[in-house]
Amino acid sequence: MLKAGIVGLPNVGKSTLFNALVENAKADAQNYPFCTIEPNRGVVNVPDERLAVLAQLSRSRQIVPAQIEFVDIAGLVEGASRGEGRGNQFLSHIRQVDAIVQVVRCFDDPDIIHVSGSVDPGRDMEVINLELALADLEQVERRQDKQKKLARTQKSAQEEIELLAQVAAELNQGRLVRQMGLTEEQQAILRPLDLLTAKPMIYATNVSETDLATGNPWTSQVETLAHTEQAQVVRVSAQVEAELTELSPQERADYLASLGVSSGGLRALIRATYELLGLRTFLTTGETETRAWTIKAGMFAPQAAGVIHTDFERGFIRAETIGYEDLVRSGAMTAAREKGLIRSEGKEYLVQEGDVMVFRFNV
Ligand code: GDP
Repeated sequence: MLKAGIVGLPNVGKSTLFNALVENAKADAQNYPFCTIEPNRGVVNVPDERLAVLAQLSRSRQIVPAQIEFVDIAGLVEGASRGEGRGNQFLSHIRQVDAIVQVVRCFDDPDIIHVSGSVDPGRDMEVINLELALADLEQVERRQDKQKKLARTQKSAQEEIELLAQVAAELNQGRLVRQMGLTEEQQAILRPLDLLTAKPMIYATNVSETDLATGNPWTSQVETLAHTEQAQVVRVSAQVEAELTELSPQERADYLASLGVSSGGLRALIRATYELLGLRTFLTTGETETRAWTIKAGMFAPQAAGVIHTDFERGFIRAETIGYEDLVRSGAMTAAREKGLIRSEGKEYLVQEGDVMVFRFNV
């Protein structure tokens, strides 16, 4: 399962957000066979409105959504890359995630101390990103030393040495690896280093309830900065989300309506993270269950079948396929079949977001 790490300075609302994520997962967990939750790890369902629609259409007994794992990585502080505040340990946790959610404090509250004395999301982002970049620089330099030794006996190391020198120089100028415009091939060379600033990032601007609908000057600042980094921004109120977990569905709706919003931002954050991870969903539906299956963008039909079961991939023959919208318009699989809307796709078929599929295979 793909993992997203939650980072940010102390007191920006990471734990509040993480707990809301986990409480939400628990709240609708009774239907699903999962819920492996450790103190700082939580498996979260990816909201997907299509599932309920398909389940009704097929009279499914249960719904199984796609999932991703969130990891709360507390303790990233200024100086972490120099090992302060057990910094290195935290940085090594971040290496293991596939995408990063950086929580940025965009709420004012005199009772909640800010580690740097004032609310200033631009400065906070710079602090965190600098720590990540410094950690990357150290990693790159270590690799440079190793490859230089290797280069005495091997020619192949030369290309990597040149790339490492270029990356080190740019990191030194404060550029993040994901902003360097590296080719696929260069990215592949760097992949074993697990560089932190190469990972896709979402900024979660944590606002107070009164700013959830409209944002505030701080969220605008983050949006402008994120734009230059090709990073995404999702506005969320950790505190509102935490409060929502305590309320009944009706109370929740009333509370959100009073704030002028339809959600506290958590659903949007989960959805955006899923998309940021380069994940796509195909669907299966029947009386037993309606289910979302996660694949990586660019997978062919047999690989997608393999996500369900390795036998499906090995014995793959064809995939009966219909787009979600087409199926819903037809009203039922049988009607869609009569209209000839169900396509029979072969091994070369690139699975599309929202495909509803039935696999034919040899056992
Ligand atoms: P972390 O150190 O980043 O994990 O931050 P926490 O989640 O522990 O939050 C620090 C404090 O800020 C807690 O007392 C939270 O209740 C409070 N907090 C979190 N989000 C908000 C918010 O949106 N508004 C306000 N006023 N307080 C918040």
